[in-house]
Amino acid sequence: MLSYRHAFHAGNFADVLKHLVLAHCIEHLKKKDKPFCYIDTHAGAGMYALDSEWALKNREFDSGIAKLWRRDDLPAGVRRYVELIGQFNQGKALLHYPGSPSIAASLMRKDDKLFLYDLHSTEFKFLHELVKKDRRIRTFHADGLTESLGLLPPKERRGLVLIDPSYELSNDYRLVVETLKKMHRRFATGIYVLWYPVVERQRILRLERALQDSGIADMTLFELAVAPDSKGHGMTASGMIVINPPWTLASEMRLALPWLAELLGAEGQGGHRIVSLAQEGVEPAP
Ligand code: SAM
Repeated sequence: MLSYRHAFHAGNFADVLKHLVLAHCIEHLKKKDKPFCYIDTHAGAGMYALDSEWALKNREFDSGIAKLWRRDDLPAGVRRYVELIGQFNQGKALLHYPGSPSIAASLMRKDDKLFLYDLHSTEFKFLHELVKKDRRIRTFHADGLTESLGLLPPKERRGLVLIDPSYELSNDYRLVVETLKKMHRRFATGIYVLWYPVVERQRILRLERALQDSGIADMTLFELAVAPDSKGHGMTASGMIVINPPWTLASEMRLALPWLAELLGAEGQGGHRIVSLAQEGVEPAP
């Protein structure tokens, strides 16, 4: 049974990195005047009220988006991301945080297509209600890892897949690698973006090795830490592994990640990694 609800975590430091990278990849695909598709295998509810009981329980957004809100010294990529979140708040008080489906839908064009999956009945209901009038979007109350395979290769031959599991089951780490291998075999030129949490470093090193062993050629990891690695202290960092990353992504992240690590890191203990997993390293792992 699924118990994860993203409303508790919306707008936290992990969402900042995830949605910053997602928005960059979508903007990159928009540079060509040809439609593309977006597949969100773990879409969530799509929109979160930051004054809800759930969001207020641990106020995770306070150490994420709220720290960026209303600052006038943001690096360019971060500024665009904050402006995007501003569109859901009429630029005033920070009351709403958009999930990945809303971010993608707001950036995509009228001929682009979105396919959104969520397995949780309540999250799916919220998601479906939110987007049902948008003719570009199809929603599926189904397993995004297995069911979305049938969409590949997309008829547009251009596309982005976001894989953002809650990792409630330790098997998820193995499943995401298996799924990425299958997806890549069907559609090798797609952009694939995999989110991961750093709760136990060894697990992430195993994930990196498994992806390196997959033979997928072009793959870069972007990680933002708010505290040093630890055992038993929850999520201290999170990352995005991007297959076929836009060529502009690493340079934007080289500016954004150290800046975010400084601002969002607890007591100066933030950090970042940018590692090319399938080619020569862009920056050495710490
Ligand atoms: N991508 C969303 C965002 O950035 O706003 C957040 C998604 S949340 C981290 C993970 C979601 O995946 C949850 O809503 C959960 O119900 C859903 N989920 C878990 N396993 C799934 C599966 N196999 N297929 C589809 N959805 C799943």
